[in-house]
Amino acid sequence: MKVKVDYRKCLKAGECYYNHPTIFQRTENGYPKLLVEEIDTDDLRQEVEEAIEVCPAGAITLEA
Ligand code: SF4
Repeated sequence: MKVKVDYRKCLKAGECYYNHPTIFQRTENGYPKLLVEEIDTDDLRQEVEEAIEVCPAGAITLEA
């Protein structure tokens, strides 16, 4: 599975990179950059699911 961020929805709230720095990294303009795209372990999947829950913009998705 792949994690995606919809930058048209992202509010730069930072919940993803502050809480899940193994997957998301803050960039200079405040948007998250993906450090990992392919989600191939249960641990990563759990982290992404948590990030999806806390993202206030609904900008993070996990796609097959
Ligand atoms: S938590 Fe959501 S709104 Fe906030 S920076 Fe990450 S993707 Fe953007």
